[in-house]
Amino acid sequence: MQSVTTHDVTVLLIEDEAEIRRFLRTTLPPYGYRLYEATTGEEGLAQASSRNPDIILLDLGLPDRDGTEVIRQIRAWATIPILVLSARDQEQVKVAALDLGADDYVTKPFGVEELLARMRAALRHANRPAGDAVETVCTFGDLSVDLERRQVFVSGTEVHLTPIEYKLLTTLVRYAGKVVTHRQLLKEVWGPLHVEEGHYLRVYMRQLRNKVEANPAQPRHLVTELGVGYRLRTE
Ligand code: CA
Repeated sequence: MQSVTTHDVTVLLIEDEAEIRRFLRTTLPPYGYRLYEATTGEEGLAQASSRNPDIILLDLGLPDRDGTEVIRQIRAWATIPILVLSARDQEQVKVAALDLGADDYVTKPFGVEELLARMRAALRHANRPAGDAVETVCTFGDLSVDLERRQVFVSGTEVHLTPIEYKLLTTLVRYAGKVVTHRQLLKEVWGPLHVEEGHYLRVYMRQLRNKVEANPAQPRHLVTELGVGYRLRTE
């Protein structure tokens, strides 16, 4: 795979595992990424503010502090996309990281293709115009959502959603390409008092898939991120 659009994209890698740093040091530059490295949370925070990178790759298990603490501190002043590098058994930490404002995660060991795809998605999302310039019609393959008219079309045919289904879909549209945690969806669709009501989400997600997916059992648009949340696929 080649990439011609990523030249001069700066990446800050905050990771104490030498093997992963070595892997990314050889892997990323040929794709046009310039890599800066930090091995502790403190060094990572210092470099994040001094280098102002385009994207941050962050290990959650750092020697001096928890990676989620690093996210919290960066999010206090910057919207730089943060991609978490997590171990397989870190489900809860992964969810906490996303809730704190990380953009996405890859699970170790990860392949370079997957990492590059997630990085491109996070960068694309970050570079989207804000405010008035935002498109009011969002299209994802055969699915399109007209945010101004509040209409949803599948292959050009309008589908009718209940208010909750519509809110669930448009919340995922707002974070298109990113994982939205169960907790965040519950908070945004049902309100902060309902963040523990996971069954609401399962019921409504099933209904929504029945309406917008050609094959609800194998969703193309509304993808499950096991144990974490859902993602509206953008490619
Ligand atoms: Ca580590």
